[in-house]
Amino acid sequence: MAATIDRCELPVAGMDCADCAAKVERVLGRLDGVEQAHVSLSAERATVVFHPGRVSVAAMTRAIEALGYKVPSRPGLRAAPRTSEIISGLFVVAIAAVVMFGLLAERLGLVDGASRLVPAPVAIAAVLLGGFPIFRRVALALRARTVTPHALMTLGIIGALTIGEYGAAAVIVFFMRFADFLDGYAAGRARQALKELVALQPLEARVIRDGVEVEVAAEDLRFGETVLVKPGERIPVDGTVLWGRASVNQAPITGESVPVDREAGQTVLAATVNLDGVLRVRADHVGSDSTFGRIVRLVEEAESYKSRAQRFADRVTAYYIPVVAAAAAMAWLIRGSTTAAVAVLVVSCSCGIALATPVAVVAAVGRAARRGVLIKGGTALEALARADVLLLDKTGTLTLGQPHVTGVYPAGGRSPEDVLGIAASAERYSEHPIAAAIVAAARPIAGGSDAAGVAEVEVSSGRGVVMRDGAERVIVGSRRLIAEQGLEVPHILDDQGRALETRGQTAVFVAQAGTVFGVIAVADAPRPGVADALAALRTLGIRQITMLTGDNARVAQDIAERLGVDYQAELLPEDKIRIVRRLQAEGHTVAMVGDGINDAPALAQADAGIAMGTATAAALEAADVALLKDDWRLVPEAVRMSRRAFGVIRQNLLGTLAYNVIGITLATLGWLPPVLAAAAQVIPDFLILMNSGRLLRVAARPDR
Ligand code: ADP
Ligand code: MG
Repeated sequence: MAATIDRCELPVAGMDCADCAAKVERVLGRLDGVEQAHVSLSAERATVVFHPGRVSVAAMTRAIEALGYKVPSRPGLRAAPRTSEIISGLFVVAIAAVVMFGLLAERLGLVDGASRLVPAPVAIAAVLLGGFPIFRRVALALRARTVTPHALMTLGIIGALTIGEYGAAAVIVFFMRFADFLDGYAAGRARQALKELVALQPLEARVIRDGVEVEVAAEDLRFGETVLVKPGERIPVDGTVLWGRASVNQAPITGESVPVDREAGQTVLAATVNLDGVLRVRADHVGSDSTFGRIVRLVEEAESYKSRAQRFADRVTAYYIPVVAAAAAMAWLIRGSTTAAVAVLVVSCSCGIALATPVAVVAAVGRAARRGVLIKGGTALEALARADVLLLDKTGTLTLGQPHVTGVYPAGGRSPEDVLGIAASAERYSEHPIAAAIVAAARPIAGGSDAAGVAEVEVSSGRGVVMRDGAERVIVGSRRLIAEQGLEVPHILDDQGRALETRGQTAVFVAQAGTVFGVIAVADAPRPGVADALAALRTLGIRQITMLTGDNARVAQDIAERLGVDYQAELLPEDKIRIVRRLQAEGHTVAMVGDGINDAPALAQADAGIAMGTATAAALEAADVALLKDDWRLVPEAVRMSRRAFGVIRQNLLGTLAYNVIGITLATLGWLPPVLAAAAQVIPDFLILMNSGRLLRVAARPDR
């Protein structure tokens, strides 16, 4: 069947807990013709992949609305709580307060008969009115053949009413509404990080169309158009400056507080702010395609991530409703206690478990994004938290990746100019930073005399360059390359090379017409802050830190010793991948820091590939974690944030699970009166709220 497949996004309003989102997802997924449905609570949106011939958007909308949620035509407007809901809420609060006061007063022996302070009809009215929003949702869910935890609790309330515990029923309804409110609040707190981010979205843009400046909505910009940005305005696209000069505050994307200067030819990012100049910018990436657009998407999608622990919890939850029902039945049938059965049903309802992961993940990913660390979703966050091995690339990662020539050593009566000039004539064809350094150093001497047509150039990754011009062969590169080409390095050049390498400089050998006649010394400055960052990572428990480099072993040793890390040298790109795989096979979780361009394959193979300082949309694709500014401090910070998030998730899940086991046991044994059970039911929600709030607070602290 070659049916076409379509994809649509529907706004969904009125969902206030993760369980609601799961419910909508289930119901959409069950429609005939729906291939896949994903519902994001924080984005308030359903994304559906479907067969247009078999199911319509209208049918999906009906399915969502049948559950009691709205599909607004204009997204983004959160439905305000209805007045009736507020009044019923206040009513039930008042009644519950009187009942609880009465119970307390009687227990303390203050007022006799105080527990009967509220007349039965009033208590029943409070139950029906106050519980209505929840009963309605339970009914709608049942009609869609889904049993929610709230259904159990509703059963508990019915039980309480049948045994005449009207006051207790009102108290249960009160706590049920209260827990709902807490869930909504916790989800909202997590969503805050996303909202702060979305608030930075540029809404308007000035574009030059047919030579005139017009104002348009940012979403109407098209690729390739010329955008005008005035002082104080937000740049609406990722683009290239065509004209003008300005300092730009990039903090919204990179977290970098010092503005950067931008002029013609340089790139600017959407959502950053032009502080003081006028810029004309060519739009290279617009809307959701821009770096900013991708960041927003990443944070939105982070929510749907299921951690391993959450997946386990979900499996447990699948058996949960039957287990609770069985415990309640046992209390009722075997122990003959309706009160105990009601308590079981009431204590077991906690929507909180569904919130345990998403709240923490969204908070962590959102906060990290604000700090210039882009974590590509929960999988990356979890890998980062579990990482026990760290691999480091050398060039561009531990060093700045902008090497320069520090010396030229000729042999056999040739001149240094000769060596540089010939080397540069071959290096023009390579994009390696070493090549750039040699070409730059040769520019003043060579002048451009080497324009002769070239027959064949072979750039050999991790080795160097071989250029064939007729019978002539120019070779520029490592010892390995020279040997592979069947040549030998003369003694004095070999000694010279060794001396350079022990000082941490790279020796590049140059050969022509079958003779190696010179060596060029190339050095790269170390990046600042590496040593501190590595020390911080060690205290975080990452024991094994190894530098992987294609450079010579002596150069590697010099740098590795200074940083106090292990090293493996003279590796080809495929060796690096093999090392990552072997470590993974040994059961390690491997994090790797690279510069995102050279090391893309190894970064992709690593569990958590961290790309250094590359605020480009392309780098976001390759890495699991992208550092949007060149700052090594962000590496331990990212690890710290992820550890904290997963610590919180574990506590959330374990806490909720332990609470449920203890609560249900006590209730089944009849040691937990229904009113106390109702009150206890909000404990997991409180736990999750406080725990995740802690996460938001700590991660928000500006510098550590
Ligand atoms: P790293 O692992 O440090 O990023 P690479 O794998 O890119 O290093 O390169 C390894 C080695 O290969 C370099 O140290 C250098 O000796 C040699 N090499 C690679 N490309 C070139 C080139 N274009 N010119 C000269 N030498 C090169
Ligand atoms: Mg490299």
